Amino acid sequence: MPRPIEALIHTDALAHNLARARACAPDARVWAVVKANAYGPGIERAYEGLRGADGFALLDLAEAERLRALDWRGPILLLEGVFEPRDLELCSRLNLWHVVHCEQQIDWLAAHKTHQPHHVMLKLNSGMNRLGFRPAAFRQAWVRLNALPQVDEISLVTHFSDADADRFGRDGIAHQVAAFEEATRDLPGERSLANSAATLRHLADVPHGPRVRADWVRAGIMSYGGVPDFPEHDAAHWDLRPAMTLRSRLIATQSLEPGDSVGYGSSYVAQRPMRIGVVACGYADGYPRHAPTGTPVLVEGVRSTTVGRVSMDMLAVDLTPVPAAQVGSEVTLWGEGPRGTRLPIDEVARSAGTIGYELMCALAPRVPVHVA
Ligand SMILES: *Cc1c(COP(=O)(O)O)cnc(C)c1O
Repeated sequence: MPRPIEALIHTDALAHNLARARACAPDARVWAVVKANAYGPGIERAYEGLRGADGFALLDLAEAERLRALDWRGPILLLEGVFEPRDLELCSRLNLWHVVHCEQQIDWLAAHKTHQPHHVMLKLNSGMNRLGFRPAAFRQAWVRLNALPQVDEISLVTHFSDADADRFGRDGIAHQVAAFEEATRDLPGERSLANSAATLRHLADVPHGPRVRADWVRAGIMSYGGVPDFPEHDAAHWDLRPAMTLRSRLIATQSLEPGDSVGYGSSYVAQRPMRIGVVACGYADGYPRHAPTGTPVLVEGVRSTTVGRVSMDMLAVDLTPVPAAQVGSEVTLWGEGPRGTRLPIDEVARSAGTIGYELMCALAPRVPVHVA
């Protein structure tokens, strides 16, 4: 028998979460963001659940090729544009939309020989200072692009740094929305501003705060059921369903006496007689090593916690709440448990000092993945 760990991808949940993005932005079209191999699960495995999107956004050219190989004929957007001039040949051949965020990318386009003019999305750096033209240079970049025979349509795009919260006494996105509106005033073209956090918090029926015009929203983490503004809100609040379950089984149990320790470094010492279970899941599976004692876990659908350090192939859990647990008992590390139980990935991530995004992306290649 293979090691009992496995990941499940829930096609229905992906479709449900995508519908949630549509409900938040009923007038917009939706890019399903599938960069980083669909945030871990795998583009091919997520495709069935996400194919109702209007387009797919990603940043790896090889991933764009894989989508075309799945026979996706609709729009595909390269979120960082091309990395070198010859990438433009693939854009022409696969009919890819691409972001233009710097002068070099315009130079490369101007030198590119193609019969098929490209759809580009000109990116404004509205304050995040990662990619994009600063407001003072934006219009000039648009004028340059607009004069190129290689360019057919120009859409306008920016990205928020703080759509998930208010910080530094500022409303998370207001200053960036203002910068975008100022820089793009009277320019034609479709607009795309919102990631998941902005789609959930700023496009739906929000009583206060800036309204974002959205011809296209970019739904990443929410498509997978991760909550961008956890713990202020949780998945139940936004009606998102986990698209990934990581589960395994107990491969051993131990009965501890007071003073007995668990695992490397003896970081956990029992204060009372207790039973623990040893789970076939470790950091080589993508479970975070820095998850401390007390990280939530489900054993046979019953909530418990980890004890001691996570090792490469195993971790230990407290069986006090589940006295009937034994070798073979099902353990849910995150996602859907038995009998309708659920453990949000956001809770595990928070305990480990990270975000659900990182846990999903870290799923290790050795874990078998099944589409459910
Ligand atoms: C990754 C990414 C997104 C999606 O972000 P989520 O927070 O996962 O919704 C949107 N836009 C750009 C430019 C991105 O790189």
